[in-house]
This record gives sequence, C-alpha cells and structure tokens, in this order.
Amino acid sequence: MNRVRCLVLNAALGPLDYKVPEGMEVGPGHVVECPLGPRTIIGIVWESERLPGTEVPAEKLRAIRGILPVPPLPAALRRLIEWTADYYVASLASVARMALSSGGALKGPATMTEYRLTGGMPERMTPQRLAAMEALDGEQATIRELAGIAGVSEGVLRGLVNQGALEPVEVDCDRPYDAARPDFAHINLNPQQQEAAEILSDAVRARKFAPYLLDGVTGSGKTETYFEPVAEALRMGRQVLVLLPEIALTENFLHRFEERFGVTPVLWHSSLKSTERRRAWRNVANGGAQVIVGARSALFLPFRELGFIVVDEAHETSFKQEDGVRYNARDVAVMRAHFEGIPVVLASATPALESLQMAESGVYAKLDLPSRFGGAQLPDIDIVDLTQEKPPQGMWLAQRLVDGIAERLERGEQSLLFLNRRGYAPLTLCRHCGFRYQCPNCSAWLVEHRFTGRLACHHCGHEAPSPAACKECGEPDCLVACGPGVERIADEVAQRLPEARVFVATSDTLNSPGRAAEFIAQVESGAIDVIVGTQLVTKGFHFPELTLVGVVDADLGLEGGDLRAGERTYQQVAQVAGRAGRGSKPGEVLIQTRHPEASVIAALAAGDRDAFYDAETEMRREAGAPPFGRWASIIISSEDEKEAREAARRIGDVRPDVADLMILGPAPAPMALLRGRYRYRLLMNARRSVQLQDVIRRWLGCIDHPPGVRVGVDVDPYSF
Ligand code: ADP
Ligand code: ZN
Repeated sequence: MNRVRCLVLNAALGPLDYKVPEGMEVGPGHVVECPLGPRTIIGIVWESERLPGTEVPAEKLRAIRGILPVPPLPAALRRLIEWTADYYVASLASVARMALSSGGALKGPATMTEYRLTGGMPERMTPQRLAAMEALDGEQATIRELAGIAGVSEGVLRGLVNQGALEPVEVDCDRPYDAARPDFAHINLNPQQQEAAEILSDAVRARKFAPYLLDGVTGSGKTETYFEPVAEALRMGRQVLVLLPEIALTENFLHRFEERFGVTPVLWHSSLKSTERRRAWRNVANGGAQVIVGARSALFLPFRELGFIVVDEAHETSFKQEDGVRYNARDVAVMRAHFEGIPVVLASATPALESLQMAESGVYAKLDLPSRFGGAQLPDIDIVDLTQEKPPQGMWLAQRLVDGIAERLERGEQSLLFLNRRGYAPLTLCRHCGFRYQCPNCSAWLVEHRFTGRLACHHCGHEAPSPAACKECGEPDCLVACGPGVERIADEVAQRLPEARVFVATSDTLNSPGRAAEFIAQVESGAIDVIVGTQLVTKGFHFPELTLVGVVDADLGLEGGDLRAGERTYQQVAQVAGRAGRGSKPGEVLIQTRHPEASVIAALAAGDRDAFYDAETEMRREAGAPPFGRWASIIISSEDEKEAREAARRIGDVRPDVADLMILGPAPAPMALLRGRYRYRLLMNARRSVQLQDVIRRWLGCIDHPPGVRVGVDVDPYSF
C-alpha cells in the first residue's frame, strides 16, 4: 500500500500520514483533500518516500479524498516553507497557509462568476435595493464582494439578480496575461548603470544563486538598471518577482514598467478581488504570468520557473510582517533565490545596516550607483535649529522654512513638508477637565482627523465621530489638539501663505491606485504647490519641479529610543531629501530639529553617509545588536490581563540557562494593549553562535497554556 505524509492546513497539527487510494497518482507538492475527524481539509503532500517515525498501522490510515486541479507546489517553494517555519519558529502549517493563501481559490473551478449592473430596474424597488444599486455603479465582482462594497446582505443582491438588475459575467481565471516584451523599448544606460546591469544580466543567465546589494543614491536610476536583468529573464522564458514596499502606491512603477515592456505587470496584494487573485495564482503556477509585482506575501507564490527576484527599497520596514508568521520579506527573498538557484537584488539608497554588513563581509556582491542620473545634483541640506529659530506661538514651521516655500511659490516650483504623523494632532484632550481620548482596544491615544471629523486609532482602526461635547465632563466644544499632525501643518501653511495650493498626502487621502494616480497627475501639472505628507511620500516619487523639502520634526523618530531609532531617522530623512531637485533645478532641504548635535542629524547635514553608518556600526557592536548579535522576542497575549501576565510569568519561570544568551522580562510589551489583547514580552539577546531557534523551541515546547493565550515568537524583531 502507498502511504504519504501530508501537511494539513491546521496549525495545531503536524504532518499526518494518509493512504493513497488505488489508482490515484500523487507525489510531493500535490494539493489534496484529506479527511480529518468529520471534516475534509486541504493538505499538501510533503513526503512520499521515506516516512520516518511512521507509527500509525496501515489499517488505521484514512485515505486521501482527492487531488485538487492545481499544479503541485514546486520543490523550491516547499523548501522555503520549511526554512521559514524553522527560522521564524512558526508551524509548517501556518507558513503553508500563506503559500496557499488563495485557499478558497484553490478549490474552486477555473471559471468564476462575477456580477454587474445591467442598467435595468428591478420590478419592485426598495430603499435598500436603491442604495445597493447606487453603491455598485461601475463595480464588477462576486456576490459576496459586492455585498461588502454595498454594505447589504448577499440576499438583497440575489434579489436584484432575480429581477434582472444585476447580470452574471463569467471570468476565466486560467486566461494568461499579455506577454511582456523584453525589447519593447530601449533605454540608454549611463556607464555606471550599464556596468551594474551587465553584472546582473550575467547572473540571470548563469542560473545560480547570487545575492546583490544595489546601493544607489536617490535618483540614480536603480529601476532602469534592474529592468535589464528583468528583460534578460524574460528572454529566457523565466518569471520575475519584484517586491515593492507600498503596493498601493505603485502607479509610477507600473507606468515605467509599461513604457519599458509594453504591458503592465501582474499585481499581487491583499486587496485583489477573488477573481484577480485566483487568476494571478493559477498563472504564476502555470507560467501564464511572467512578471509579478507584489507585496511581501508574493514571496510564497508557486512560481513555475522563477529566474530573478528584485526587492526594491529593501530597507523599508513594511517588509517586516508583524503578526501571524513574523518574517522579514527581505531575508526570505534571499532564501527563495537560494532555493531556486537564481540571483536576487536588494535595491536601496539607504540600505539596512544588516545588508551593508553582508556586503562588507562578501556574502552579497555590492553594486554602486554613486551619482544621480543625468547630472542632477544631490540637494543641499541645511539644519534649522528650533531652539534658536523658534516658530511663532502655536505654530510649527520656522520662518526660514516658510520663506523658502514662498520663494518656490513665486518661481512656480513645488515644496514638500514631511511629518510622519497622520491626522490633525497626535493627542486630543478636553480643555475643561483634561480628559484624554484613548483607544478602548490599545494603549494608544486617539488621533483627531479633521477632514473626516473623526477620532481614530492608528493601531486597530477603531474610529468614532469627534464628540461635540466632552465624554467625561460634558463641556461643549472643548477639544484641544496637542502637537502637530500633517493636517495641522497643512492648515498652518494655508494660514501663513494663503495663495498656496496645499495637499495632504497620506494613506488616508491616497488610499486607492486611482487617487494616487490623480495626485501624481496634479503634481505633474503644477496644480499643487505644497505637499504635506507622511512617509508614504518619501519613496518612489519623481517630481522634477519639486525643489524644496522641509523635514518638520527630525527628532520625532529619535524619541522612541530603541536601537534602530538612528537608522530609521537617517533613512527617512535621506529618502525624503532625495525627492528634492531631481530635475534640472537644484534642490534644497531644511531639517527642523532641537538636537542639531545628534550624530544622525550632523551626518545628514554633512551629507556624510559613511560617518553615520560607521558610528551606527560601532554602537550596534557594543550593544551586541544585529548584525553582531541576535535578538528575538516572545510575545504573550490574551484578552484577559491576568491570564496574559500569569502565562508570561510561567514562561519566564522556566527560562533556559544558556551561555551567551541574556533573557529580559517578562514585562509589559511596548504596546501593552493592542487590538483588545494584553501583551507581555520577553526579550532575548544572544551571541551569533547561539542556536536561538532551537533554544526557543525547546523552551516553549514544554509549556501548556489556557486556550485564550497566544504565544508568538519574533526572530530578528524590528524594534527592541
Ligand atoms: P532611483 O530609484 O535610483 O531613485 P529612478 O530609477 O527613479 O532612481 O530614476 C530617477 C529618474 O531618472 C527617473 O525619472 C528615471 O526615469 C530617470 N532615468 C534613470 N536612468 C535613466 C536612463 N538610463 N535613461 C533615461 N532616464 C533615466
Ligand atoms: Zn486601537
């Protein structure tokens, strides 16, 4: 009898053995349906030859029910799943679920039915039907998705289908995408770009694992450079994966890609419609999708023949997943390339210290683009010492910065003010009784959003209308804003320079590709004079008329005091500074700070990146921080404070005693209450020689917890 070991997509269980029914052909990677108790669940055939530790007697084995009609998961992906589960101390099933994230999509047929308005009216109109029809104008999606968009039940929409107001449209999810044309447009690279592009193209042809760090200043043309090896992979008939940090804002990238390759690439991110998702997944697997541009989850797609991986803006913190399986897509991308036997390039103007260290020690090959394309100069950077040049009472911008914006207005140029705080003010309180508005689910203040008239939590999404009277003392019109957010800075600019056309650019206002495209068009046509934005505007944009960048508060990032504060500040300010003077006109950057003496600020002002990285390297070395030592954290959470505290204490009580390993805590986690869960944390700091993952597995493996307690492991946490 044939037996196989299957990874069932149920986190609590390890791989299980099943019997293969007579006549069924299954091998590793096949996605199958397995019986589990009374249910049928999806599993992946993991091993079929040697089955170590097989104890279940043959007659007790249950049989696989069927094979799903999708290509088997390739071996390289299965190895990636194993590596990820092992390195990040997660269960195999939880990682495999990411790979099969289109779960439902797998089971379903290749054809799906979407619905759209016919233009006809239902025989019997109700207010609910009318509202639904208004909301669905121009939409086409499955009934369930349309119900979500319109905010009505699926039953209401079925009624509209029966009455002829909605009609079905069949969508073929196996339809391949238009082919990208590697030689659609030719771009003349400058000699530095050419050299880097040739090295990468050679690596693509060599079909061997090779990691690269493309270290190029802002505006050096990193994209044009890596497009060449992308073209090379396409010529070889192989697929390409490009990871971008902010998938909502890829307009500019898509446009450049289309100009170069004649088609837009295939997108992969969490807000795809189910038909788009299923079509992308199936075509990645069968080779009908050539270039995938995606968020970090695209790393676990079942590519048929991947030839090249790009991680653009590789330093970005959004590559770190902070819940579920806590992984860093930048590092997993390198491992995927390793298992596929292909090159991978990490592109950045401000690489993470870890990446630079890998280049220095020779693990990554480093490619440099030290100057801007087309002779554009890097901008001049100046410090505004806020202790000397005080903004007027109740304002946040020094006169010099406002004068700079006024000059740009006169010349018809543009300015960008950067402040990494959405909303109007980070803290809202009652002028009468001092009551502070706090999120009911998180240890965080509610942030006032004046444009929408709401108070919002930036951690869990909790929202409430701004109250007309204090919730605590009942005083009317009593809210006072404390500190500035981007909306407040925009108000200030409008007040001090009334003729300026100001636009607030954040994830609140640029929340769809359409809106982002509109924003870009407005800036390009000169309809916007001043952009006030969060870190969303620090990357990717190329606006030739933008000649002034003002950093409203460079000290903000340093306040948290964690070990990465300096690096984060450096990266953010250098990236936003990189938006200035990208055209023929020179750029200027003004950095407002109360600490001009801080080493990060001094290095930025002097344009001395090496000085900053050297100082940072020394600091990390002394602290035993990455890349010199390793950190991991264990997060224990529960909806019940006491339960979380006790579980954390039980774990802390049996802490292992290992040489070169220091364990701190348990203590309340930095966000002690998050999305309604109380959180405690244990921090581990170890020498590189310690097998940290093994220690954690052995430690946590011997403790049981009440069902309400969750224990999460974060290996290489971003902040500590
Ligand atoms: P980076 O990503 O390194 O900041 P970009 O790739 O955005 O830089 O390039 C900056 C600008 O220069 C873009 O508008 C890009 O189209 C242009 N550019 C770069 N290299 C070339 C080239 N070889 N030919 C034409 N335009 C180029
Ligand atoms: Zn919250």
